[in-house]
Amino acid sequence: MTSSSTCPRCGTHDETFLHCVRDCNFSRPIWQHLRFISPKFFNSTDVHEWLKFGSSGSQISAFSAGVCCLGSPVRAGFGGIIRNDSGYYMSGFSGFSGFIQGSSDILHAELLAIYQGLTLAKNMAIDELVCYSDSLHCINLIKGPNINYHVYAVLIQDIKELISQSNTTICHTFREGNNCADYLAKLGASSDSDLTIHASPPEGLLDILRSDATGTFFLRE
Ligand SMILES: [Zn+2]
Repeated sequence: MTSSSTCPRCGTHDETFLHCVRDCNFSRPIWQHLRFISPKFFNSTDVHEWLKFGSSGSQISAFSAGVCCLGSPVRAGFGGIIRNDSGYYMSGFSGFSGFIQGSSDILHAELLAIYQGLTLAKNMAIDELVCYSDSLHCINLIKGPNINYHVYAVLIQDIKELISQSNTTICHTFREGNNCADYLAKLGASSDSDLTIHASPPEGLLDILRSDATGTFFLRE
């Protein structure tokens, strides 16, 4: 989940479909290895036109292989940040939650973010906590009645228990208000670590923290 439109691999272009599968520095060499070198292949700005061009002629197998290779699998990560009531960074975490195969895998990453954040706050002996998530679906599952047959019933129950053991309020925030967590989720998705605790902010997070501190402050309901 992200609030930024920039490609997370190269960090220099907008993350459009054609950028991801064709133009990004990480994608282009794959096409060149597959001998797609014609300027027309790289100049097309229309997705359908490009798909039609690539899948016509004798290179159709190579083209399909290239699209499959670049199109999957998608890595999912989670992340979060703990700040005090003045907005100062106290701790953060990120991790790789797995490959996205179905829509429920995104929910898994979102629930893991909440679970790991609450666990970290508990380990830090924080007794009063407001937990913000950009996933309304997660919040409804956590605040709703117990569901025994949900695919993530155990994880949801663990979160409910962590909340009941502490003075924790859980709220929805929009993605714009969640830039730091988004950054950490992307960091987690590109790592191979199940969970990393960032006692001090990772370098790339500093700018986002600074703009958060100087810019908007989020209203609490
Ligand atoms: Zn890129």
